[in-house]
Amino acid sequence: MANKAQTGQIGVTTENIFPVIKQFLYSDHEIFLRELVANAVDATQKMKTLASNGEFKGELGDLKVSVELDEKKKTLKIIDNGIGMTAEEVDKYINQIAFSSAGEFLEKYKDQNIIGHFGLGFYSAFMVAKKVTIETLSWKEGSEGVLWSCEGDPEFEMGPCKKNDRGTVVTLFLDDESANDYGTKGKISQLLGKYCKFMPVPIVFGKEQEWKDKKYVDTDKDHVINAIEPLWTRKPSELKEEDYVKFYKDLYPMKEEPLFYIHLNVDYPFNLTGILYFPKIKERMAIEKNNIQLYCNQMFVTDHVENIVPDFLTLLHGVIDSPDIPLNVSRSYLQADENVKKISTYITKKVADRLEEIFKNERSAWESKWDNLKLFIEYGMLSDEKFCERALKFALLKNTDGKFFALEDYRKAISDTQTDKDKKVVYLYATDVDAQYPFIEAAKNKGYDVLLMDCELDAHFVNLLEQKIGDTRFARVDSDSVDNLIVKEEKVKPQMADEDKKNMETMFKAILPKDNEYIIEADNLGEDAAPILITRNEFMRRYREMSALGGGMNFYGEMPESFNITANLQNPLMIKLIGDLKNNSDKVEEFAAGSDLLKQLTDLALLSNGLLKGKALSDFIARTGKTLTDYYSK
Ligand code: ADP
Repeated sequence: MANKAQTGQIGVTTENIFPVIKQFLYSDHEIFLRELVANAVDATQKMKTLASNGEFKGELGDLKVSVELDEKKKTLKIIDNGIGMTAEEVDKYINQIAFSSAGEFLEKYKDQNIIGHFGLGFYSAFMVAKKVTIETLSWKEGSEGVLWSCEGDPEFEMGPCKKNDRGTVVTLFLDDESANDYGTKGKISQLLGKYCKFMPVPIVFGKEQEWKDKKYVDTDKDHVINAIEPLWTRKPSELKEEDYVKFYKDLYPMKEEPLFYIHLNVDYPFNLTGILYFPKIKERMAIEKNNIQLYCNQMFVTDHVENIVPDFLTLLHGVIDSPDIPLNVSRSYLQADENVKKISTYITKKVADRLEEIFKNERSAWESKWDNLKLFIEYGMLSDEKFCERALKFALLKNTDGKFFALEDYRKAISDTQTDKDKKVVYLYATDVDAQYPFIEAAKNKGYDVLLMDCELDAHFVNLLEQKIGDTRFARVDSDSVDNLIVKEEKVKPQMADEDKKNMETMFKAILPKDNEYIIEADNLGEDAAPILITRNEFMRRYREMSALGGGMNFYGEMPESFNITANLQNPLMIKLIGDLKNNSDKVEEFAAGSDLLKQLTDLALLSNGLLKGKALSDFIARTGKTLTDYYSK
C-alpha cells in the first residue's frame, strides 16, 4: 500500500468533525500538545519494551522526544524515535481508530465538564492546525517511510516517503489564530512545563543556553524540560527529608516550607502514588485550594482535584498520580465512582495515619506546628466523619498559658476542679486573651484552666467537641460570673421585690447602648467583686458566631446581640446606687439620666468587656477627669 500514493476518506463517518474539533473546549485547546507528546512518549516506551523482551535486537539509540517550533513558518514538530508505524498501521490507527475514537469522544463529552479533557488523542492537533503531516518509519525490519497528510477536512493523502531513522515526526501547520496563541517559544515552553514536566522520557525543547559576549547563546547541549523520575515515583526509603522539601520548592517556588509531607504508594486494589504536603495555614483568608496536581502516569491532567479527594484535603499541596481515576467522566459522576471513593478513603486514612504518627513520635514538633495546622485539622474534623474519629486522638487543645494537651489528657487534668453539679466537665475558653483578660484572670484565680480557642472555626469546633466527647460543656470565660461558670451546687439567687427589680431594669436600659438586648439580674458576687458584671450567654453568642461563619442557622445571625447585666448586691457602691434608686422610685428615668454614679459604674463594666467606644468612651474619660478633680481639689 505504501508504494503508491493514496487518497481517501478518514474513518467510517462521512460527517465532517473537524469544525467540531476546532470549537471543542475552546479554553482547553492547549491540551493538544500533551496529547501529541504523550503519543510520542508511548511510542518510545513501547520501543523500550520491545528491546527488553528481546523482540527488537537492534540499536535503541538515545530515546527521547523533541519538540521543535519554527516561529517564522508557524510549524510545530513533535519528533520521536519510538516504534513508528507501517502504512497499514497508519491506516488502521490514524485513519480509522484515532478518527472514530475522536468522533466518539466528541459526541460523548461535547457538553460535559470532564477532567483535563483527557484522551482526545491525535486528532486534537486539528484544534490548532490547518494541516497536519505524519512522517513515520516503523521499527519492523524492511519497513518504508510513510507520509500522511490531512488539511483539516475528512480527506487525507498517504504515500511513501524517504525517512531513514526509526520513529515519527508529527508536523502541525498552525492556523493563523493558533499561531498567535501558541506560535512562540515562550508559550510552548510554558505548556511543556505545565503538562509534560514529569513525563517518563526526556523531552527536548531547544538547546541549553550560556551567557557569552553579554548575551545568552545556544550551546549544543539539548535542553531537557522534564524530570523523568519525579520524586513520587521513587522509593520512600531512598529519599531524605531534604529531597521532599526540594521537590516542594520546585513545585511551588513562592511558598514557605511545608509543615509535613506524606508519600503515598499503593498498588492494590487501585494504583496510586503521590506526595502530599501540609502547607502552613494561618487564616482562612490565606487558604488556597487547587494546589494538588493530578497526574496519570506522569502526565499532568488537572489541578482541580475536587470530587476526587475529600474537600478538606484540597487544602493540601502536592501531587497525586493514578491511572485508576476515570478521567473521561463528568465531575459530578466522579463522586459516585467506586474507585474514586476508595481512593478518597485511602488518602484520608493515610493522612490520618501520618498525623497520628507525628503526634505519637514527634510530640514537640507536633506542638510547635499546631498553630499552623489546626485550621486544617479542625476543618477536616468538621467536614469528614472518618477523619474526625481519627483526629480525636491527635488533636490538641492549647491553654492561655501556651501549654498543649491531647483531648483525653486535658479532660483528666481538669475533671477534678471543673466538674459541675450535673457531672459535666466544663471546658472554659477564651477567644481573645487581651479582650477577655479580666475574665481569664478571675477564672484562673479560682483554680480553673482556660483554653485558647482563637481559630476561625472554633465556634463550630467547640460544638463538635461537645458532641464527640460527651458529658462536656464548653463555656467562654465571659459567659457568666466566675461563680456561675461551673456551678457545683445549686445556689439560691437573692430575691428582689418585683417593683425594685422593674425599677432597676428601667434604670439600666435608660443608659445602656440601644442596639443590643439586655437581661438585667441581681446576684451576690462578693464585696470585692465589681459592682456590675456584663456577660454574654454562651449559647446565644456561639450560635450567632456559627451562623456568621455559615452553618445554616441564620436565624441566630439576625437576632440582636444579647448581654446579661448583673448587679452585684454585695458591692458597697452598688448598695449606694440601689439606695439612691429607691429614693427616686417615682422618676427612675430622670434619675438614671442624672446619676453620675450609675453612669460611671456601667461604663466601667462596659469597659472591662471592651464595649465602651466612641462618644461613650470620651464621655467616660471626661466624667472621670471631673470626678478626680472634684475629689483632689476638696
Ligand atoms: P490513543 O493514543 O489514545 O490510542 P490517539 O488518537 O492519540 O489515541 O492515537 C491513536 C494511535 O495512533 C495510537 O494508539 C498509536 O497506535 C498511534 N500513534 C499515534 N501517535 C504515534 C506515534 N508518535 N508513534 C507511533 N504510533 C503513534
